Parts: sequence; structure tokens; C-alpha cells
Amino acid sequence: MKNKITLIVKKEVKLNKFLIKKQNLNKKEIEKILNLHKYRLTLELSIKSAEEKYLSDLYKLWLENQRDLQRAWKFKQNDLYIRFWEVPTCSCPKSDNNFMYPRDEYISEKTCKIHKRGIYV
Ligand SMILES: [Zn+2]
Repeated sequence: MKNKITLIVKKEVKLNKFLIKKQNLNKKEIEKILNLHKYRLTLELSIKSAEEKYLSDLYKLWLENQRDLQRAWKFKQNDLYIRFWEVPTCSCPKSDNNFMYPRDEYISEKTCKIHKRGIYV
């Protein structure tokens, strides 16, 4: 009998030191960003293993997390700067959307489990 193998995904969050300095973030603000990233990673793990019926709600939480991150970095919250195609299980065209970034001409794929209705934000 084989031993059960448990795979632990451990991702490290590294923040951009130059941006921290540029945005003049203090220790408490940096801590908030790190916690938001931990939450993002948890959400992304959930999205990867979720049944399709839960994807829409999880995606809404993911979007809110992206908005919270923008605010935590002291940027004006703007949905155009959310790279929605980077959410796990999204099958929308990545290189086309990266090319369009940050303009409102993003493309969604009808076969994408998350953005099939053409709504990304
Ligand atoms: Zn998608």
C-alpha cells in the first residue's frame, strides 16, 4: 500500500520594494497588503478546486480583493487595472488582454468558466 502523499503549496509573497518606497507605505500598511495577498492566494486555491456553481461568488470575492489591494497600495481604485485573466481557471486570451492592458478593450472567452457571460468586473 502506497503512502498518502500530501502536497503543500507554499507560495511566497514578495512586494515591490521600490513601489513601497514610492508610495511611502508604513509597516502597518505593508502588513495589510501582505494579508490581502494571503487572502488572494487562499481564494485562488479555492477557485482552482471549486465546483463550477461556486465560481461566480468566489470570483466576486477575488475582484473585491483586487480592489482592496489597489486601495491598500494607495492607488485610485480602477477596475481597468484588474488583470481578470490572471484568475485561476480563466481561459480568456491572456496575451491579447496583456496587450490591451490597461484599456477597456479586454476580450473574454465564451468557453471560460468564469467570464462566459462576458462580464469581468
Ligand atoms: Zn476568463
